[in-house]
Formats: sequence, C-alpha cells, structure tokens
Amino acid sequence: MTSVTPPLNEQSQDETQSSSRTPLSQFRKYGLKVTDFSDQLWCEKQMEFTLHRGKEKTEAMVQGSARHQELHEEITEIVEVKTSTREEWWGLQLFNAWACLHQLKRENICREIPVFGKVQGVWLLGIVDQLLTQDDGQTILSDTKTRRKANLPSEAQKLTTRIQLMLYKHMFDQLVTHDFPKEDYFTELRLDPDVTFSDEFLEGLREHGLPGENLGSLLESTLEEFRNASPLAKELETRYEWQTDQSYLGSDIFPYSNAWLHHQVKTGLRYWQGERDARGVPRSERWKCRFCNFQDDCPYT
Ligand code: SF4
Repeated sequence: MTSVTPPLNEQSQDETQSSSRTPLSQFRKYGLKVTDFSDQLWCEKQMEFTLHRGKEKTEAMVQGSARHQELHEEITEIVEVKTSTREEWWGLQLFNAWACLHQLKRENICREIPVFGKVQGVWLLGIVDQLLTQDDGQTILSDTKTRRKANLPSEAQKLTTRIQLMLYKHMFDQLVTHDFPKEDYFTELRLDPDVTFSDEFLEGLREHGLPGENLGSLLESTLEEFRNASPLAKELETRYEWQTDQSYLGSDIFPYSNAWLHHQVKTGLRYWQGERDARGVPRSERWKCRFCNFQDDCPYT
C-alpha cells in the first residue's frame, strides 16, 4: 500500500527559523526517521545543512526509490490511499505493518514493512525493505541498494546502511518482545485514538481487511500481529545491484550489534537533543567533502 500523505513532521516556517529550540523539536517534533541516523553517520554537519536548506533529490535517489517500488509490486498489490489527517497517515503505516505481517505468515516474504517505537526515549519510524522466512524458520531482514557504478560501496557507505538495518531489527524485535508504550504514543505524538477515519480512507482499505475504524483499534490489532511474530535473525544483509541492468554486485552480510547501535544512537541523540553542535567529518574522511554540496559554507573544510 502507498499513500498521498502529509509529512511525518509538519512544520511552519516560524518553527524552522527558531534558533533557541533543539534540532529535535525544530525539525522532528513527531519523531526521527531511521534514515536520519544514516545521514548523520555519513556527515552530521551535512545533515544539518540539509535540515535547514532542504535535500535535493538526486537521479540516483529517484532510481533507488523506483527500484524499491518495483520490488514491492512484484509481491504485493499496491493500493493508493489518500490520507488527510495525521491519524490517517499513522493509520496507513499501522495497516501496512499489519498487512505485511499477514503476508509474511502466508507467503514467508513481505516488503516495505513499517516499524516504529521509542529508541532511547525518542520516537523513531522506518520502513524495512524485505523480510524473508527461511526453511529453518529464521526470518532474515535485508535491503536492496542500487549503485550507479558497478562496484561495491566504501566501508563508510556500508556503515550508513548497517545502522539503518540494525535499527530496523531493533524496532521490530522490540515490537515483538516488549510492551508498546501506547499512552506515550498518543500523547507525545498528539494523536487521537478515538476519531473515526474518513469514509474515503475506510473505503480504500476495508476490502483489504482493515482491522479497525480508528487509530486506537488499529494499533491494538497491529501490535497483536507483532506479538505473534518471532524476533529476526541476527545476521543482516544489504544486497547491492547495478542500476544500469539490475545485475547483482554482491552483499554485505553483518551481525546485529546491540552495543554498537546503542553507542551510535546515544551519540547521535546528543546532537538532536541540543547537547552539542553538529560535527563535520574527521580528517581521515575529508574525501567525503569532495562530494558535498555545502563545501563552500562548511567550517570544517
Ligand atoms: S564539506 Fe565535508 S564536513 Fe562539511 S558538511 Fe560537507 S561533508 Fe561534512
């Protein structure tokens, strides 16, 4: 399923211009995205520039999204659903997760599954590329990345994907094994659990089994599906493809590390919570600056 959505973090111009607030309250008042942490790991200063100035969509990004959509359509019927409130936007994320978990049980595979939750006290949302249950019963999380050149990425690029996949697994497993903080979800994200979804939204999804007419009941059904699932395998995989002909270039297979992830999130959140300024890349990674749009204005070059 896909949506025509209001953004996760709606902001007024006034809010983005305020300098006394933390980056979290200024730019991500309804929570961070998993990709925020990968951007931050590449270069935090560059991420800060894009928060203030916006992010240009590159041709590589457009092609990467198109490939994800194509892979999604290979196994799922895509339904366009218009959402007009934040409750409906979240409703669609929950419904997509619910439908994916059903598909995983039925077909041992699902793609584009939303995962969400609080990580070190901050709300986080991400979309897992693929889950596949193997014959031995283990469910493997993987992501396909497309490459403009027919080679594997640098270690620095691999790290940005590793944090992404580790966060997905962390959030999925947390939904499976931990009590979800329902009260915080509704109060901190300012969502009304009881308001009935619009007729248009309900009509779009009812025939696909929508298990609730408001966010409160949909959350219950979705959490139940997560509780019935099993934690994901420890090994995670990023699969690289060449954009030109979709040929397979190779995989990065790596183990989930709770200690590494905890440290990265803790360090990253100190920036988001206004405890320190954004950092540029260390001297050994200055080569990244050659590919950066903000070189001319950056104090680190
Ligand atoms: S020029 Fe280098 S240090 Fe500055 S924002 Fe860009 S990548 Fe980061």
